[in-house]
Amino acid sequence: MTKLELRNIHKIYPNGTQAVKDISFSAEKGEFIVLVGPSGCGKSTVLRMIAGLESISSGDLLFDGERANDLPPKSRDIGMVFQNYALYPHLTIRENLAFPLKIKKVARTEVKSRVSEVAEMLNIGKLLDKKPKEISGGERQRVALGRAIIRKPRFFLFDEPLSNLDAKLRVQMRTEIINLHRKLGVTSIYVTHDQTEAMTMGTRILLLKDGVLQQNATPDVIYHSPRNIFAASFIGSPQINLFAGNFERSDNLKFVGKNRSFSFSLENTDKFNFLAKEATELTFAIRPENISISKEQPQNLAWIESEIVNIERLGYETLVYFKIADELKSARLNNISQYAVGDKVFFAIDTSKLIPYDSDGNII
Ligand code: ADP
Repeated sequence: MTKLELRNIHKIYPNGTQAVKDISFSAEKGEFIVLVGPSGCGKSTVLRMIAGLESISSGDLLFDGERANDLPPKSRDIGMVFQNYALYPHLTIRENLAFPLKIKKVARTEVKSRVSEVAEMLNIGKLLDKKPKEISGGERQRVALGRAIIRKPRFFLFDEPLSNLDAKLRVQMRTEIINLHRKLGVTSIYVTHDQTEAMTMGTRILLLKDGVLQQNATPDVIYHSPRNIFAASFIGSPQINLFAGNFERSDNLKFVGKNRSFSFSLENTDKFNFLAKEATELTFAIRPENISISKEQPQNLAWIESEIVNIERLGYETLVYFKIADELKSARLNNISQYAVGDKVFFAIDTSKLIPYDSDGNII
């Protein structure tokens, strides 16, 4: 197990693209870190710099405290798993698994026992004499995992390894990879653009946008206290609801949307009085599960009256959509059998769950 550290890493490609800007983070021994963000945000570039497949423009890469910027890729002792499996088509599964050990000139008896060990761990014993084209996508990805772990590397790097699998298999492989990580305890960096994978797999999530690290936090913290509006919107499905507006004070404290597209009252609590004093323009974010609906005006002060534009019944929960100035908002509910699309209803907001952002989009 090894500690991995990146200090003020920048990457500028020869064509001038600045793909990574001043990224610093560390992965403690045995951690499973997920790098997530939209396509083009620099995730693969970070991973490739750690693997030594891409040079580092400036900054320091450290393995257990020692500078590793100039270490050749083959001396980094890294196990990589890619989206496209990268298995050798002309070799059997057994030979594919054994390949990394053969290169290292490991003794034949040792190779044999390690292949059996890995095959058992990943439940691929029956596939050993087949060729990659004779097995399914999920099985191929399992073999690719096996080939990464057979060397007992210092780190694992995963680059969108589940993207080519169907939804059901992805869920299954998520669990398998995490269980494997629990068993082996190897420091791992996992790249994905899928926020569900990030939330379900990471002990820590690093969220990137335009080459800049937006937040480095546990899934729980990033979900409940996203540092900026981008993080709030990227994590969670359906997307968090955003309400941009201003405070107004008459009999009580009101929050009013641009062009008066909505308004709701707020209790005179210290929190809201403080915010009303601090910020003129503000955006409140609220997760769909913190909005409820009713036909009668709620007791709660903070409500918006609107029409239901869509209902998605997912079995265990129901998503109800409404619109505010052409922006779709959603509420996550349990039992809504008495409601239908087109109903005018009250959406009540749990004000204790409102997350405030300033006009730059940063949490207040
Ligand atoms: P991600 O993995 O998040 O999709 P990448 O790390 O692949 O993002 O890319 C980050 C940015 O760097 C993108 O703008 C991409 O177009 C650019 N980029 C990636 N590889 C190269 C390269 N070899 N030369 C020039 N630009 C590149």
